[in-house]
Amino acid sequence: MAAMYQVITPQKPAAILKGVGPKVAEKLSSIGIETVNDVLFHLPANYENLSVMNLADAENNDKVTVMGTVMTEPAVAYFRGGKNRLTVFMEIDGIYVKVTFFNQPYLKDKLIVGEEARLSGKYLKHKLEINGQRLIYEAGGGFRVTYPMGKVMHSKTFNKIVAEVFGGFSFNYDLPETVKAKYRLLSVREALRLIHFPKSPADIKEGRRTIKFYELFMFQLRLMEKRQKERVRNERYIIDYDIDELKAFIDTLPFGLTGDQKKCTNEICRDLKQNVSMHRLLQGDVGSGKTIVAGIAAYAVKTIGEQTAVMVPTEVLANQHYQSFTDTFEDRLTIAKLTGTTTRKEKMEIVSRLESGEIDLIVGTHALIEDDVLFNRLSLIITDEQHRFGVNQRKRLNDKAHRKNVLYMTATPIPRTLSITTFGDMDVSIIREMPKGRKPVETYWRRYDEVDEVMASIASEVRKGHSAYIVAPLIEESETLDLKNVQEIYHMFLDCFGEEQVELVHGRMKPAEKNEGMGRFERLEKPVLVSTTVIEVGINVPNATYMVIFNAERFGLSTLHQLRGRVGRSDMQSYCALISDPKTENAKQRIDIMTSTTDGFELSEQDLEMRGPGDYFGVRQSGLPEFKVADLAEDYRILEHARLSAIELSGEMREDA
Ligand code: ADP
Ligand code: MG
Repeated sequence: MAAMYQVITPQKPAAILKGVGPKVAEKLSSIGIETVNDVLFHLPANYENLSVMNLADAENNDKVTVMGTVMTEPAVAYFRGGKNRLTVFMEIDGIYVKVTFFNQPYLKDKLIVGEEARLSGKYLKHKLEINGQRLIYEAGGGFRVTYPMGKVMHSKTFNKIVAEVFGGFSFNYDLPETVKAKYRLLSVREALRLIHFPKSPADIKEGRRTIKFYELFMFQLRLMEKRQKERVRNERYIIDYDIDELKAFIDTLPFGLTGDQKKCTNEICRDLKQNVSMHRLLQGDVGSGKTIVAGIAAYAVKTIGEQTAVMVPTEVLANQHYQSFTDTFEDRLTIAKLTGTTTRKEKMEIVSRLESGEIDLIVGTHALIEDDVLFNRLSLIITDEQHRFGVNQRKRLNDKAHRKNVLYMTATPIPRTLSITTFGDMDVSIIREMPKGRKPVETYWRRYDEVDEVMASIASEVRKGHSAYIVAPLIEESETLDLKNVQEIYHMFLDCFGEEQVELVHGRMKPAEKNEGMGRFERLEKPVLVSTTVIEVGINVPNATYMVIFNAERFGLSTLHQLRGRVGRSDMQSYCALISDPKTENAKQRIDIMTSTTDGFELSEQDLEMRGPGDYFGVRQSGLPEFKVADLAEDYRILEHARLSAIELSGEMREDA
């Protein structure tokens, strides 16, 4: 059969098609259509079903295509500005309806009393009216397709050009047979044909399903190619760590690793042992235990006498990590800390110990990327909250490596669909399971007039010796207003708890003041902290069991989740109260989601669904790929299948994420 067709390669210029002369080619080119493939993938934006339906079956506001008899002489009314409306009464499927057409006065001559007419429009069932869109003269059923053509040419004309491709050519590309069979997909050719020339709604749906798959499949293949390129293969990347020593260290930990921690540790250690550079993202919710996984990797590197650097975005986090690593390793590793507040003298000393190789593990902020910070043998670079650093900052640190093994960590759970796409060039390890004994934070929603009840339960927690965070929203543009807001709330708590129990911290304070206030809360001198979202990152007070978020509707899901992550950090039951009178459906939905789950990944997926992938990371900058038909938020399943197929095809056996 193929012999009857001329085989096209998709890169051939559109001009080889009949009906595309130099003039038309130029017009097409002006809207980005250069090749035959561009023609094929310029898909209809809209379909109008030309098959006549029974008006009695239509619902209010349905778009309908119907046929009926003209009952009255059409009347045209003219308005100011040249606008006009034609009104005619018709009997359609036994229903007497008023049909109107805006700005199509010439239809008057086509609508003849006693004769039949076919038309499409919007049915206002309650008023027995149809807002006519157009009269239909085409014979038969099927669909009228509309292409996004600007003013370049008529959709009908373009559709004819598309028809040329299907009339005379066969395709030299398709999805692999095995993939088509497995997922019951059409050939790409047939799918495109159905999308351009559908006979039924099912045609459109089936065609689109195949093309979605095809787009995502090709995309995955390209990503894999890119990843292969970025993973440098060289014997020198083999870190032949001492497995016995590593196991002995893991045995000293006061707890057993969770299944997910073990899995991630294995993935990282396998990377280290391989002859390729590591380029891996470790994802896990706040409190899921990423730090120890990173620590184990650092220990592995140390068993061959090499160094690890851990870079974090803030001083607070640097202190925390430093403390936690020191507690964990005691004297097994030599650990140092370098931040913006390190004195010049201390820094010089640290740098010389780094250069001599005495320091095994250094924790620091941006201070680590400065040019005068040099290492002996830096073989593992760990970046926490990686999204808070710019590409160049990360690169500057990475460039100091003796062997470039990079582990990025993030506590922002990223929906799997997005992680496959935005981080497609990285391997991904996920800790989803929380350490045993953690109690999910009990979350509930209260309206403003129910605040008293919340105050009472906070008071009862405070009596037990626990602490509470009270968060008031801060929105940059209206700092004065927010300040008032925080202060109001502060006074409310003062009235209830008294000065000796309540601390206030907000963004307008001097850093020193802020630190003092925060310090009193951290040392448990004051159990109630009223603040703006300055507490979002880093603070760790395991004694805190209560989180109250005022105006909860003003926060996005991921911020709410981060804030809630400040409590539930011990074996005590913790609580989160969302105070809100949500005004919009969307706000209400967010609050409902928060009260229904504490799983960050589930939250992020629902967030993605609500916001769409474009919005999710703050539009475009993330470099999300654009697809013609596929939708990352919606086509999760297809992406998954396309990815597996691509992995199978490329023979890549790596099992990640
Ligand atoms: P994060 O993923 O937010 O960085 P951390 O690594 O700080 O989480 O871990 C949070 C707390 O849980 C720490 O106090 C840590 O010691 C503890 N932890 C980590 N892993 C386990 C485990 N498997 N069992 C019990 N506690 C654990
Ligand atoms: Mg952490």
